[in-house]
Amino acid sequence: MNVRVPLDLRAADSASERSVLRERGQREVFCGLTSIVWLHRKIRDAFFLVVGSRTCAHLIQSAAGVMIFAEPRFATAILTERDLAGAADVNEELDRVVARLLERRPEIKLLFLVGSCPSEVIKIDLARAARRLSDANAPRVRVVAYSGSGLETTFTQGEDACLAALAPSLPEENPADGPSLLVAGSLADIVEDQFARLFAALGAPRVRFFPARGAEDVPPVGPNTRVLLAQPFLGETARALEARGAQRISAPFPLGAEGTTAWLRAAADAFGVAPSRFDAATSEARARAEVALARHRAILAGKRVFFFPDSQLEIPLARFLAQEMGMIPTEVGTPYLNRQLVAEDLALLPVGTRLSEGQDVDRQLDRCRADRPDLTVCGLGLANPLEAEGLATKWSIELLFAPTQGYEQAGDLAELFVRPLARLAALEV
Ligand code: SF4
Repeated sequence: MNVRVPLDLRAADSASERSVLRERGQREVFCGLTSIVWLHRKIRDAFFLVVGSRTCAHLIQSAAGVMIFAEPRFATAILTERDLAGAADVNEELDRVVARLLERRPEIKLLFLVGSCPSEVIKIDLARAARRLSDANAPRVRVVAYSGSGLETTFTQGEDACLAALAPSLPEENPADGPSLLVAGSLADIVEDQFARLFAALGAPRVRFFPARGAEDVPPVGPNTRVLLAQPFLGETARALEARGAQRISAPFPLGAEGTTAWLRAAADAFGVAPSRFDAATSEARARAEVALARHRAILAGKRVFFFPDSQLEIPLARFLAQEMGMIPTEVGTPYLNRQLVAEDLALLPVGTRLSEGQDVDRQLDRCRADRPDLTVCGLGLANPLEAEGLATKWSIELLFAPTQGYEQAGDLAELFVRPLARLAALEV
């Protein structure tokens, strides 16, 4: 569900190169449980058991749009009146639910216990429960806990919390194997395959993706591992991998032709790939991406775009729209600004772009109305009211569900921003 959290007010960051409006008012974003929608498709033999309320069950069910008889790989252990009244031992109940689940679904190799908001859930030590259940079900099933609570996470932070919880259990790399590249962050399989081919053409050593498609396909990590983030919302994951000795490669995110080239080049430079080899490996795909983008640039160039904070993809997306499509970002809002992770994209934003971190939704709506942008990127809850006011909107969650990274998807990414403008133009006609 959308979470509205009243907090205290804001402060500007004068010490930074770019000033940031810090908002701490009500926010309108989905909670971290939403990330189960794409994570359960990515890690194919994992199961996500939300420990929560009926609200959590409804959110997951409707967000994933899966029929109950489709045997989805997620479910909610709903706290009942008995649990709430303290009449039942919650840990015993949880053990019983998990035992029944694993008996019915022997294909499950990795079970996530996902925490949620209700205070009764917060009181349960899910990390301890996960250790107990892991011991009881080893070696067949690994059990890992993380929080998807709306009090702690916005929707993409659910993935961050999930991967950060997995990172400590990744195997130690063998120093004799030499350097390796770990690409962290969920990517559509088709995008992952394209990147794997590009990295092979570049000669990057021992490339692995995290999360992998299978729960047992766990990439090793250690001081010889160079981490390249594929998603900008993985601050905790990056920290957890760095705590294992891995070194992060700084790069813009692989959106559009320029972003993808810079992302691949950062990895190529980290492994000493010769410029001639880099050009040979990337030039054809890059040229295809540039042709695909040119068509959409004619429509998007000069248009003004406003981002409400939602997915933490906002800064790389604004960089793509400004640098590659000629759009003018008026405000770029992000739920959390991790300056280190988005430093390269941030540096490429036009001077004068207003940045905001966190949300005070009413004040931000006022700024949006004052700006009258050609396109507003926002969550589902804000899109309809803004459309009713004649503003073209783009649902930010779509930008996460659609495959958007890499050369072959560059044109599709641009088209996602063109469509609402075309729709509004058609309605006006
Ligand atoms: Fe709502 Fe919290 Fe459950 Fe998310 S985790 S659906 S915000 S109750």
